[in-house]
Amino acid sequence: MSDKDLESNNTENNEELKNNIEETNSSNSGSTENKNNNEDEYEKICYVCRRPESKAGKMIDMPGGICVCADCLQKSFNSFQNMGMNINISEDELKELLNMPGIHMMTPEDFRRDIPNKQKLKKKKAKEKEAAPVIDLKKIPAPHIIKEKLDEYVIGQDYAKKVMSVAVYNHYKRVATNTMDDIEIEKSNMLMIGPTGCGKTYLVKTMAKILDVPLAITDATSLTEAGYIGDDIESVISKLLAAADNDVERAETGIVFIDEIDKIAKKDTTRSRDVSGESVQQGMLKLLEGSEVEVPVGATSKNAMVPLATVNTKNILFICGGAFPDLEDIVKERLNKQASIGFLGDLTDKYDNDKNVISKVTGDDLRKFGMIPEFLGRLPIVFTLDGLTEEMMVKILTDPKNAIIKQYQKLLELDEVKLEFTEGALKTIAKKAMEKKTGARALRSIIEEFMLDIMYEIPKDDHIGTVKITEEYINGTGGPVIGMRGRNLIEE
Ligand code: ADP
Repeated sequence: MSDKDLESNNTENNEELKNNIEETNSSNSGSTENKNNNEDEYEKICYVCRRPESKAGKMIDMPGGICVCADCLQKSFNSFQNMGMNINISEDELKELLNMPGIHMMTPEDFRRDIPNKQKLKKKKAKEKEAAPVIDLKKIPAPHIIKEKLDEYVIGQDYAKKVMSVAVYNHYKRVATNTMDDIEIEKSNMLMIGPTGCGKTYLVKTMAKILDVPLAITDATSLTEAGYIGDDIESVISKLLAAADNDVERAETGIVFIDEIDKIAKKDTTRSRDVSGESVQQGMLKLLEGSEVEVPVGATSKNAMVPLATVNTKNILFICGGAFPDLEDIVKERLNKQASIGFLGDLTDKYDNDKNVISKVTGDDLRKFGMIPEFLGRLPIVFTLDGLTEEMMVKILTDPKNAIIKQYQKLLELDEVKLEFTEGALKTIAKKAMEKKTGARALRSIIEEFMLDIMYEIPKDDHIGTVKITEEYINGTGGPVIGMRGRNLIEE
């Protein structure tokens, strides 16, 4: 293609683009109302600068279902004009420029790509929301009611439930009123400390369900400082937005649970950069406190094709949880040291066998563990959860509303078979679970193992009416007691 051809081709393209824009604008003016009716709940996003309609102003519809804001359109017109009128570069220079790798001349074809529907953000329904606020102060259940609800699902952990109920109640009261008597109520971000499988995540999940607020759960180990391999810290807000069905206002009153927070303790490294430890704590500071975050919608990383939404974290409740395995030793050491000094100098190993030593944890201990003071300062509510005992395990099997045994009973009930467990069987399951040292998580895997045979065999025989699981069956030394319909129980 000669230089002249190239030039005329470009001017033709520009003309065509202008005509297209004019055409679409004029054809749109008649049908805007119809279109608006269909797409009322969505906000348009500028294809070039990615700002939503609420920020960039009116959008101009372009061919191919895309739209561009007035600013960007103006800028492109200006640049077309510059190229046509007071262009100073020579034809050779222009040709060289166009042949450079990475430089591409835009044609109308570039605008004709199919745009997925995800490109549109749900519009904030400002007026509707004013009438019915997301969190209605009068509807927040009182702390004792929140705790009662938690009791239906979570066994034990009375202290944790109490602290959480009060903190959550205060938090949402603060959200609803913003301030109280000119004294700003501090945000109730929490730090939960407790062994694995004792119900930390489960408590938070249940709480979010009770309050009907969106919840995002993330693992601190997957987070890294922005720019490194791993999810950057703001991705948790993106998850929350997804949990709130991309409704920014709902997400702004949600709960974020960050598990394994002890894994981002400061490491004693001087040679390499600590991108997943201290830096993550640093990076989380502004999130915990409250700031405006630009997050990608429908993805966890920002890139050109993903629209962004601005979420304010001021009213998001952050709950961090972790097992803090070596923290107990730090607390013990401090307490033993304190006990052995002074007049009443006590034994230096006074606290060595104290099972509840972790509940005496202080900010200093956590600092020693590797949490930075600024981070701890933004988590004003610190509490511990108890390790599960055998009795608690038995209760977890049978008592909660959605207890695992109740689930199996319901399943077999559909086949008109009654499932029972002897006291001994329940205790044996609990004992086996305790040995695994993974908390209540082990219960399900143990039950699933022996229930597989029952669930496979029972539906085969229509005459079976009852199945009783015994200690012997769990221990592998006997079978379950099977009862036929209308007859006494017979040993299998
Ligand atoms: P973690 O403390 O490690 O976050 P989870 O909360 O995920 O542990 O507990 C794992 C599972 O064990 C939960 O899904 C829940 O079914 C059960 N569980 C743990 N603790 C309790 C509890 N106190 N009451 C009832 N169920 C529990």
